[in-house]
Amino acid sequence: MRVCLALLTVFVVAYSRKVFTGDQVLRVNAKSEAQIQLLKTLENGEVFELDFWTHPSSSELPIDIHVPYASLYAVQKFLQDNEIPFHVMIQDLQELLDKEQDDLQRNALKGGDMKSFDYAAYHRLDAIYSWMDSMVAGHPNLISKVQIGSSYENRPMYVLKFSTGGNNRPAIWIDAGIHSREWISTASALWMANKMATDFGVDPSVTSLLGQMDVYLMIVTNPDGYAYTHTNDRMWRKTRSVNSGSTCRGVDPNRNWDAGFGGPGASKNPCSESYHGPSAHSAIEVKNIVDLIKNRGNFKAFISIHAYSQLLMYPYGYTCNDIPHKAELDSVGQRAVQALSSLYGTSYRVGSICKIIYQASGGSIDWSYNNGVKYSFAFELRDTGRYGFLLPANQIIPTATETWLGLKHIMEYVRDHPY
Ligand SMILES: [Zn+2]
Repeated sequence: MRVCLALLTVFVVAYSRKVFTGDQVLRVNAKSEAQIQLLKTLENGEVFELDFWTHPSSSELPIDIHVPYASLYAVQKFLQDNEIPFHVMIQDLQELLDKEQDDLQRNALKGGDMKSFDYAAYHRLDAIYSWMDSMVAGHPNLISKVQIGSSYENRPMYVLKFSTGGNNRPAIWIDAGIHSREWISTASALWMANKMATDFGVDPSVTSLLGQMDVYLMIVTNPDGYAYTHTNDRMWRKTRSVNSGSTCRGVDPNRNWDAGFGGPGASKNPCSESYHGPSAHSAIEVKNIVDLIKNRGNFKAFISIHAYSQLLMYPYGYTCNDIPHKAELDSVGQRAVQALSSLYGTSYRVGSICKIIYQASGGSIDWSYNNGVKYSFAFELRDTGRYGFLLPANQIIPTATETWLGLKHIMEYVRDHPY
């Protein structure tokens, strides 16, 4: 009976998973503002069920579009008819996904125990949650697990709090995986948590940092979405909330913050990947973080980790106006990126969200900045598009290691510049 049930579960899970056979990701290089406008029309049109991995904003940046097999001919013809240059970046999305699944199945057998935990692999939510318990057990005087609330589907939302005591010390917030398909963000955060724990008491800089400040690290910020990327749809980005009056689910949790909410670069359409939700902080996942930041207070830095594009950004996203601290944040960002690049030469660009990618309203770091957290940054990790969201697992440790250097620079700067 038990075997039957297990088989049935495997069958149901396998059967409900969305497949992308023959789907391609096209890299489009628009040559003019007119072509950008055409691509924006395509993005808003919904006819071809396209998923824009990066959005049309300027002719300097490539636009990556996931095109379902059924729409390939029509979309390629549209691009050709309008003389918009493009090439195929990912030939068959499902092939990449199958490879990723094979790796995951092998790793699922290894479990989440800290000693044997494989940082060079992607993991399911339950493995990550049991790894958190091992981390806390292994570093009881440094790390505690704080539940800041529950997700829409009632999964606990955990923060790893690194603290050596003191009463309400200045603190640094770091979140990963708010967009669930950006797996490298969560995987890098896992590695960096372990790095910070093992460097404490060994590396003088990390030791002094944690001697003066608390670090709050949220490794899976969108747990419902993350679980869903493993069971049903690898390309899921949003939360999993039901939208009243629509069959489409989920809110983009990085368009839901009370910072230019509902403005340009967010969609009012519940079926859009960038749906901002019915009201600011309507996503419980966002509200839980807002409550923690406000109730605790004394946060000096707020850092969100995304993928992909290799960018280090500061506010604003909802407007292209400069923030008052632009010069300082830009120079911190430039140096962080220098540190990051020193390891493997990975190149990053630095700038405000609005100027470096596109106008996007309701984002987390705009909210934190407007609420008094001066050092607000967002990373977009590797790569620049060869694999996009499907970064192979053999790049996890290199990505995490270089990102740590950049992140550490920001944290040291914050430590040395109290305000
Ligand atoms: Zn993201």
